[in-house]
Amino acid sequence: MSVLELDDVSVTYRIASGEVPAVRGVSLTLDSGAALGVAGESGSGKSTLAMALLRLLPRDARVDGRILLDGEDVLTMKWGRMRAVRWAEASIVFQGAQHGLNPVRKIGDQIAEPLLVHGLARPEAARKRVAELLDQVGLPAWRARSYPHELSGGQRQRVMIAMALACSPRLIIADEPTTALDVMVQAQVLTLIKDLVAEHGISLIMISHDLSVLADVCDRLAVMYAGRIVEQGPSGEVFHDARHPYSKALAAAFPTVGDPAARLAPRGLGGDPPDPMRLPTGCSFHPRCPVALDECATLDVELWSAGERRTAACVHVRAKEEAS
Ligand code: ADP
Ligand code: MG
Repeated sequence: MSVLELDDVSVTYRIASGEVPAVRGVSLTLDSGAALGVAGESGSGKSTLAMALLRLLPRDARVDGRILLDGEDVLTMKWGRMRAVRWAEASIVFQGAQHGLNPVRKIGDQIAEPLLVHGLARPEAARKRVAELLDQVGLPAWRARSYPHELSGGQRQRVMIAMALACSPRLIIADEPTTALDVMVQAQVLTLIKDLVAEHGISLIMISHDLSVLADVCDRLAVMYAGRIVEQGPSGEVFHDARHPYSKALAAAFPTVGDPAARLAPRGLGGDPPDPMRLPTGCSFHPRCPVALDECATLDVELWSAGERRTAACVHVRAKEEAS
């Protein structure tokens, strides 16, 4: 059974100057125990999609389509149920700095909080569980008494992972969990996440702009551009033999995990991603595409079968499949 099923999900922010179509018609399925990577440059809608899954979006965001978490419709869930689902069934690890830890509370109290709030443990049992969780993420038990500023960036990210694991969720969503870390620490934290989800049979959605990071951790990849999935398939195939020109460019831009030079200037990817309020006509990628045809400026291609359990939204893929 699938843990998560998205059917034609769109997210639109309503702002003073109009509507921002941040996510457009995303459909995907996550099998139980599987790891899915969501790739794409900054602004492609990855975090918006992640937040929609647990209804963490601001009030001015409208979500259309259907999101099933363990068969339950997230968008029509009552608030009480939604709160129970967060942490206990699905939890999110954000990029260190932004939704970080509370600076004035001890690490142990913050990890224990979801356990106590959900009534899953009394204080004494919660303390034991905190020690166990710290051990699982490779930190000594005495760290429970530390404050966030006493930890390094990598250690803080381990604490966030411990919090995400606390209530034994079936799904963890990790949004750029290692982007703020330096390369060595990034590799350690990635290995930790990979091992933990495998060991506990947790399903994972990992989000990154870095395709090599995702290919290393995930079974399948979905590549997003301008709010849409433009390619989806087994991660080795998408990384080494991308069918969409944008996935190809991303794979070439991030050839090795955490390459600091590539992060600053993605190789071979000229120009910027489009503003969602001013999307190009036709294929959104055509102004930057090295192999665009005239028709790409007007024809918006749907996701097309590109082999076994693979899809890609590109006229070249369609032409090839039609010819075969
Ligand atoms: P990513 O995580 O891939 O970098 P985001 O989901 O953060 O992308 O953003 C997708 C698009 O939605 C961007 O164009 C961004 O400017 C816009 N956006 C994000 N949050 C808001 C918001 N609260 N109000 C209006 N627009 C937003
Ligand atoms: Mg983001």
